[in-house]
Parts: sequence; C-alpha cells; structure tokens
Amino acid sequence: MALDTTPPWGDVRNYVDGSWRAPTGTDGQDVVDPGTGETLTRVGFSAEEDVDAAVRAGRDAFDEWSRTPVEARIQPLFELKRLLEEHQDELAEVLVREHGKTLAEARGELRRGIENVEVACGIPSMMQAGHLPNAAPDIDETAVRKPLGVFAAITPFNFPGMIPLWFLPYAVATGNAFVLKPSERDPVVAERLFELIDEAGFPDGVVQLVHGSADTVNAILDHDGIEGVSFVGSTPVARHVYERAAANGKRVQAQGGAKNHVVVTETADLDFAAKKTVSSAFACGGERCLANDVVVVEADVYDEFVDRVLAEAESRTVGYGLDDDTDIGALITPDHEERVRELIASGIDEGADLLLDGRDVEVEGYEGGNFLGPTVFGDVEPEMRIVREEMFGPVLGLRSVADLDEAIDVVNRSDFGNAASLFTASGGDARRFRHEADVGNVGVNAGTAAPMAFFHFGGRKDSFFGDLHAQGDDMIRFYTDETVYIERWPDA
Ligand code: NAD
Repeated sequence: MALDTTPPWGDVRNYVDGSWRAPTGTDGQDVVDPGTGETLTRVGFSAEEDVDAAVRAGRDAFDEWSRTPVEARIQPLFELKRLLEEHQDELAEVLVREHGKTLAEARGELRRGIENVEVACGIPSMMQAGHLPNAAPDIDETAVRKPLGVFAAITPFNFPGMIPLWFLPYAVATGNAFVLKPSERDPVVAERLFELIDEAGFPDGVVQLVHGSADTVNAILDHDGIEGVSFVGSTPVARHVYERAAANGKRVQAQGGAKNHVVVTETADLDFAAKKTVSSAFACGGERCLANDVVVVEADVYDEFVDRVLAEAESRTVGYGLDDDTDIGALITPDHEERVRELIASGIDEGADLLLDGRDVEVEGYEGGNFLGPTVFGDVEPEMRIVREEMFGPVLGLRSVADLDEAIDVVNRSDFGNAASLFTASGGDARRFRHEADVGNVGVNAGTAAPMAFFHFGGRKDSFFGDLHAQGDDMIRFYTDETVYIERWPDA
C-alpha cells in the first residue's frame, strides 16, 4: 500500500505496543511546510503517561524478544530494508514537504538510513564477543554480549529519515526494545517510517514511537524503566540530556552541534576543493552537522580560491524542494531563518567582508517560504560570532593563513569537534592533519567527512558527550553488556 504523501494529513500519532494512539498531553504544535508556510498537520505532545505506556510495552516485549534467536530477530530488518526501498520516493516526498530540503537530498538521507538497517542485519557476527580455551589452567573463558532492556533515542529535525535509523536497527537486532522521540518540527516522516515498521513483522512492543517536545524528553530521561538514551541535537540540549540521563543512572550518548572547518593548502586541486567545499556548505541549506562553515586557505592561493568558491556559490538555485532545478531548499522555520539573518548581520558588524549576499533572494510562487540564498564572507576572524557559533544556514566564511600550522591552530581553537577536512596534494600535510586536527571525523580531499554506516560517527569537545558513538560497532557495545563465563570441568 502506498504511503500518504499528500497533505493535509491527519494528526500525528504515537505507536505503542503495536497500535496507533493519540498523544494525551495538553500541548502540541502545527507542522508547517517551510517552503510554502502552509500547515500540513498537527503534532500533539506526549504526557508522562504516554512515555510510561511505551516503556511498559517495551519491557513486556523484552523478555521474549531478547531470548528470540538472533537469526529470527534480524528477519524484520530485512523486510524493513525492502519496504524502505519500495517506499523511498514516497518517504522522500513527505520529508521534503515538512523539512524543506530538496528531493535528491531527501532520497540521499534515506539511503544512508537504509545502510544502517543493512549493517544491523550483520548483528549475528557483530554481536559475538570472544572465547579463549585454556585462558587459565583447565579454564575456558567466554565473553558474551547481552541486551539490557528498553532504550530510547531523541532525534533532531535536520535528518528526520536517517538519524532514527542510526539507532533503531541496532537496538532491536541486539535484542532490546526501543522508543523513538523524533523532532516535533518534522514528525511525519517518523510516523510513515513506523507504518513500514508495523508492516515489517516486529512483535508488538519491540518498537514504539512517542511524539513531543522538552517535557516528553525529560519524562524519558527520568523514567527508570529505560536503560539508555541516545540523543542527537543542539549542544545545550545534548549537554542537558547527557547530565540528566547520567544522573539517573542511564547509559547515554549525546551528539551536539558543530562548526566544521576546511583547510585548503597551496598544493590542492583548487577546482575540486571549491566544488566539494561549496556542495558541503550549502547542501540541505546548510542545516547539517557536517556542513562546511569556515574555510582556511593558504595565503598564496586565497584570492584564486575565493573566486572559484564565488563562481560555484552563484550557480546555486534556491527554490522549493520538490521542484527539479532547486539546489537549496527552505530553512526549517521563520525563527531559524531570522536567527541566520541576525548572524549574517553580526558578521558585517564585526568587520567580515560580505562577498555574496543571499538575503534578498526571492522564490517566485513561494512567497511564504523561509528562503535564504548562498552567502559568502571573506576575511573572517576566529573571534567573530559567524566563526564561533553554529550557523545552520547557507553561509560560508573564508580566511587566509600563512601555513598549515596556523590552519590547524584555527581548526583546534573551535569549541566544537565534529569534523574538519583538508584539501592537499601532500601526503605529509595529510598525515599531520589526521594526527593533529582535534575533531571526530577527519576528511582528506573530502568535502563532507561523513562515515559510512559500518564506521561510527565521531565527534569531540562540544559536539559530543559520552564515549560510544552512533553507528557501527559502537552501537553494539552501547546496546549490550558484556558478561564473561569462566568455566572449569574438573572431571573432564
Ligand atoms: P534541538 O536540540 O533543538 O532538538 C533535538 C531534540 O531535542 C528534539 O527531539 C527536541 O524535541 C528535543 N529538545 C529540544 N529542546 C529541548 C529541551 N530544552 N529539553 C529537552 N529536549 C529538547 O536540535 P534541532 O534544532 O532539532 O537539530 C539541529 C541541531 O542538531 C544542530 O545543532 C545540529 O548540529 C545537531 N545535529 C548534530 C548531529 C551530530 O551528529 N553531531 C547530527 C545532526 C544534527
């Protein structure tokens, strides 16, 4: 059956214990198309009781699910992969309508989500821990990984199709039950995703969906039936989630905001570097935690590189996400657009050189949308707000530096440590950068340093709170506890 892609949609629902129900909290908010300003639907927020019902359903399901053979546990994931691929275009359309990015970007993020489902299908191998015969005289030792109970994930607006899948497939494949609390700004993709989950064949109670905002999140953080919490979102909320969940004795991993630097050395292929840098800066309207924000260029090639960046940036078309020729879609809300405009104004006030001004962009036929054109600053300085604060808009700043030493110093002065990339033809420079850049994802001649699903997604400093990251092997360790069996059979 096709998913409903045509708004207006009915009110957004929770999914608990295998059935759909309305959140019972008193608050809620409209879900608005950022490209048109039209209301698509309304999401109600879940009360503590709704969270409790979801956790109870998970705990009830856990006993049997955790004892279900792992081979049987991954069968619904194979089915989910098939369903996600079958409905990828419908999901992408819903995603564009409530998020504002382009259709190609929406399809791309869903593909990255599906890759996590694929990796989690390998849990039977990944979950094995180790065995050593004769670890001590007549003693064999075996380490096993056991699921723990109910886990929750709280996710942001910017990748509503992908980020829930950084967690859900691994949580359930390892034998846990799972609760998702998606962003209240674009919750319909999560609902559609759960329509597919409902079809995929998980037993009731293994996976639930609860909608809501800060109060719902706090009910999750305080619920003693939840073993661990994954969070992805802004740094202040990541810090809050980390502290409150840990104080309540839970495992927690909390990924925060970012400010990503690119370094361009004089040996780099400047055309290639400009294309990759600009693509990364303006994809998804800059609303990506891996978006390039600040480019640090060796002085000898600074002017030449700036010209190439401007030519690339000027070629981008701003428009409605479902229209074919759109490169840059709408920003999530008018408030967020206003914040980015205010940061641009601060850059001008603080003395940066505004080389390309996207503030006057108009998109014909979409006058109600939250649009901003590509904006480029030259001569940015580390103390300016546009260099220190996360922008989350289509804005790029450039500055020149004397050499790689100074470039690495600029990168490492940032409070954030999500990603940084180097463009160079020098292996020696690349090696230094890999060793010295204090970030979790290091790119070399790569515009966006995004790890595939079978590697964990790094992050340091104010970009990450915790130790085990999302995706890959780290997820197995996050979702399981290791027990060691020490065995001796004196009569053998
Ligand atoms: P956000 O912090 O506003 O919201 C994230 C989640 O937290 C949502 O589910 C929201 O309901 C909840 N929340 C919001 N305020 C809360 C509060 N006061 N108390 C408790 N819960 C609260 O983030 P966002 O605007 O949705 O997403 C954008 C941010 O996410 C950016 O900072 C971006 O860099 C970051 N992000 C980081 C990564 C990463 O891997 N590091 C990936 C994607 C996005």
